[in-house]
Amino acid sequence: MAHPDEQRFDLVVVGAGSGGLAAAKRAASHGASVAVVEGSRVGGTCVIRGCVPKKLLVYGSAVGEQLADAPSYGWPVPPVAPQTHVLLDHVRREVDRLNNIHEAALDRAGVALVRGWGRFLDARRLQVGEQVLRGETILIAVGGQPVRPNLPGADLALVSDDLFLLERFPSSMVIIGGGYIACEFACILQGIGVTVTQIVRRQLLRGFDRGCVASVEAGMIEKGLVVLKGVSPQAIRSSTMGRCVVLSDGSSVEAEAVLLATGRQPRLEGLNLEAAGVAVEGVRIPVDDDQRTNVGHVFAVGDVTGRINLTPVAVDEGRAFADSRFGQKPRRTDHGLVASAVFTQPELATVGLSEEEARRRHGEQVQVCEARFRSLSRALPKTGSRCHLKLVLGPRERVLGCHMVGEHSAEIIQMAAIAMGMGATKADFDRTMALHPSISEEFVTMA
Ligand code: NDP
Repeated sequence: MAHPDEQRFDLVVVGAGSGGLAAAKRAASHGASVAVVEGSRVGGTCVIRGCVPKKLLVYGSAVGEQLADAPSYGWPVPPVAPQTHVLLDHVRREVDRLNNIHEAALDRAGVALVRGWGRFLDARRLQVGEQVLRGETILIAVGGQPVRPNLPGADLALVSDDLFLLERFPSSMVIIGGGYIACEFACILQGIGVTVTQIVRRQLLRGFDRGCVASVEAGMIEKGLVVLKGVSPQAIRSSTMGRCVVLSDGSSVEAEAVLLATGRQPRLEGLNLEAAGVAVEGVRIPVDDDQRTNVGHVFAVGDVTGRINLTPVAVDEGRAFADSRFGQKPRRTDHGLVASAVFTQPELATVGLSEEEARRRHGEQVQVCEARFRSLSRALPKTGSRCHLKLVLGPRERVLGCHMVGEHSAEIIQMAAIAMGMGATKADFDRTMALHPSISEEFVTMA
């Protein structure tokens, strides 16, 4: 039975993050009537509490090293302490500006922003506060959130979302985890002058090329980070210093604060997916190649699908969905060759297969070319981590993996991804004239 105040839309999007916003605006551009439901700020993880503010903190943190290098370049800058309250305040202002831009863009696109948390009433209707929205098509784009492991005292720790809300950074921090978020924040905080101890139960950056991860780890340790591997946290307690983490080997580490960076999970609570009949697998919503769930008119994009949790992937999935459903331009996201970067110091960027994965798939046919060197920018300071460039070649010397540790690696790997997408071989790389002096010239000159 129709609700008396029911509002009808061609598309109702749940979640105003990267995937949801991209889908909503694209669908509206194709003439669909669209509503986006959002209980928090418009922009989602990427804009509000992820990629963008994190990268600003990476830039802020890197200034420390530039200041330390300055005397060797003839700038006699005396040692200065960072004002982390200023950095955090400026980052928050930039996030506010972007949040406003995203809201204005929705408005310009003619998309209705409905504030509140959406809850399915049935397969086509959602309750949002007092309102009931009916969508002929519904897109679930609710993203993910940090997971707190089942650990005594886990509530005493911060998660990554909290870091952006701090007034200032603490003087010392224990970071639990060895993934993207743990490693990036370990480097940001250490660069800003925080004493960091990172607790890694297995390996740093599992899934990335091991040789390149070893180079990242060497660089992190050279900068003074303490990385304790092979130990797990057993409990977190309050202590005179702030927090104490009890470890599996019986030892403990104290710091002013603890960051839990132990993974992220989709936000499914409260959606009442059962009412819509949408199937869940573990904590994710499975979808087919067209982003369709088991319910014909309900789709999902981004982190909630639990495939590749990266903003550009969510954006492309959202646009492909909208083009296919509302624009008579059917297309699918290609999840095959996705470049990614970890903004550690040194930075790691990668596209394609790690050496380990290539050997698993192609065995003896795999060849590896590598170069390790100190970049010219380090010649005068005489400090700083080494660059590591690596090509993983498969049958007929096709480039299957391109990996880089060092300055600007994310910028460089983005370009290499184009060549790899076109099926480049080692001979194609070698035929390219080197650009000198640069770091990336090693990719076209390595033996
Ligand atoms: P990850 O899954 O990358 O890493 C989680 C880490 O926590 C792993 O090292 C894991 O160990 C460890 N861990 C999990 N549970 C425990 C526990 N109980 N005790 C100790 N350690 C534990 O998650 P992140 O939170 O770092 O990142 C989530 C996702 O966000 C990433 O997969 C990525 O897609 C995205 N992201 C991307 C970024 C980028 O593109 N630059 C930046 C930040 C996030 P183990 O390996 O042993 O399981």
